[in-house]
Amino acid sequence: MRHPVLSPILSRRHWIFDLDGTLTLPVHDFAFIRASLGVPDGSDILDFLASLSVAEAAPLHARLQEIEESLVEKTEAAPGADELLGRLHAGGARLGVLTRNTRENTLRTLSAIGVGSLFREEWIIGRDEAPPKPAPDGIRQLASRWGAEPVDVLMVGDYLYDLQTGRAAGVGTVHVDPAGLFRWPALADVLVTSLAELAAVLPAAEECPVFTVPVPA
Ligand SMILES: [Mg+2]
Repeated sequence: MRHPVLSPILSRRHWIFDLDGTLTLPVHDFAFIRASLGVPDGSDILDFLASLSVAEAAPLHARLQEIEESLVEKTEAAPGADELLGRLHAGGARLGVLTRNTRENTLRTLSAIGVGSLFREEWIIGRDEAPPKPAPDGIRQLASRWGAEPVDVLMVGDYLYDLQTGRAAGVGTVHVDPAGLFRWPALADVLVTSLAELAAVLPAAEECPVFTVPVPA
C-alpha cells in the first residue's frame, strides 16, 4: 500500500473511473484488435482511426464496436469494485466513467457487473462524447455538468492515459495497478493495487463529514 493513509484527496466527492482494466478485469486483446482493423503495431487504435477518411474509418469503427460488444459478456468486475462504488454512492459521491470504449458498451458492461444502477447515463463519457484520453475534455465535461471544481474531482485508472488525463485536467489521480509496478509515480497522487485496497482506505463517514451529506441531484 503506497498512499497517504486517510489522504484528504480520498474525501473528494466526484469520482471518474476508467472502465476497462479499472472497474473490470482487463479483457481487451489489443494485438487482436489491431490485426482485425489493420492498425500498425505500436499505433494508438483511436488515433489511427482518426487519421483515416470518414469513408475508410466507418467500417473499422463498426468492427471495433462489434469486437468490444462481444467482450461485454466476458467482462468481470475488478476486485472491490462493487464495495468501493457502493460506499461512494451511499456517501453521496457522484460517479462518472471516462473511457475510450463507447457509452453503449459501458452501460452494458456496468449492468453486467452489477453496478449499473449507480451510474447515470449522462455521466458516462465514451469516445463519441469527447476527444479520447489523454485529452482532458471528458473530465472537464463531467466537472462542468457537476458544477465541480478540479480540487473536488478524482480520476481513477489503470493506465498512463488515465493519469495523464487527470493531470491535464488538474484533478487528483489514483493509479490502480494490480501488478504493483506503478510505472508512472510522478503522475499519480494515490497508488493502490486494487479497488478493494482503495475501498479499505476510504475515509469512514464519521471521519469525513462530506460523505454524510448527499450531493444534490
Ligand atoms: Mg484501462
